[in-house]
Amino acid sequence: MTTATLDDLSTLPPTERMPVLFIGHGSPMNAIEDNPFRRSWQALGEQLLARPTRPRLILCISAHWLTRGWQLTAMAAPRTIHDFGGFPQALFDQQYPAPGDPDAAQAISVLVRQPGSDAPLGLDRHEWGLDHGAWSVLKPMFPDASIPVIQLGMDYSRPPAEHANVGRQLRALRDRGVLIVGSGNIVHNLRAMRRDVGADQAFDWTIEFDRMTTKHLNQGNLDGLSDFQRNAALAANAHPTWEHYLPLLYAAGAANEDEAPTYFNDVYDMASLSMRSVVWGL
Ligand code: ZN
Repeated sequence: MTTATLDDLSTLPPTERMPVLFIGHGSPMNAIEDNPFRRSWQALGEQLLARPTRPRLILCISAHWLTRGWQLTAMAAPRTIHDFGGFPQALFDQQYPAPGDPDAAQAISVLVRQPGSDAPLGLDRHEWGLDHGAWSVLKPMFPDASIPVIQLGMDYSRPPAEHANVGRQLRALRDRGVLIVGSGNIVHNLRAMRRDVGADQAFDWTIEFDRMTTKHLNQGNLDGLSDFQRNAALAANAHPTWEHYLPLLYAAGAANEDEAPTYFNDVYDMASLSMRSVVWGL
């Protein structure tokens, strides 16, 4: 078996440590609507680009790419995927032509291992691209699309703790110029959405799950975050399916214990979404 170490990452030389982000992405329309969410992403992108070292690569864990085993996109020019329906043509017209980075994907695939089997991550050279969980937030943040983007596909059949395990393995990449971006929502129940309520109102279970998660984040309690289904009834309301929660485990796993999270967009949307977004190390 190959044993890869950070020294093998010649394609990713050492840099100043990059922050880690978890973005609550909400509606795909946030990609093009002038609203507080999109404006916050624009401001965050400007802040990141104003640092002495800009990210050389973005590794995005999107709620919208579920794979068998864990996979990395490894094509040179990932396509923009419009993985939604019932939205205006203007949203389907969006493109995010950021390049991929097949060499970096190859290097990361042997550094980060599949939990359990210890096999390298899979490489997807042709199928996927950039889904809206990735591009809807990256386009406002980095509109010139010049930073290469790799997506990491999540094996939804595996337990939450294994997702956190992969997140922990991503930590070292931060010292190699890689900006890790989880994109999902801390509470996400589309069936319960209410369009007639404001950002300060939500279901009790939205508020409770958001608060519980924030407490675990503040404590750096990755085990608590992984055990989000401990209260089964609460979790079933907050996440009837939990693909929007899982990216948080990658971002929290990639944060160091001594890095306190800071929050933005800590509001609700349509009563059953939490838009709370998290930054570590900025
Ligand atoms: Zn989504």
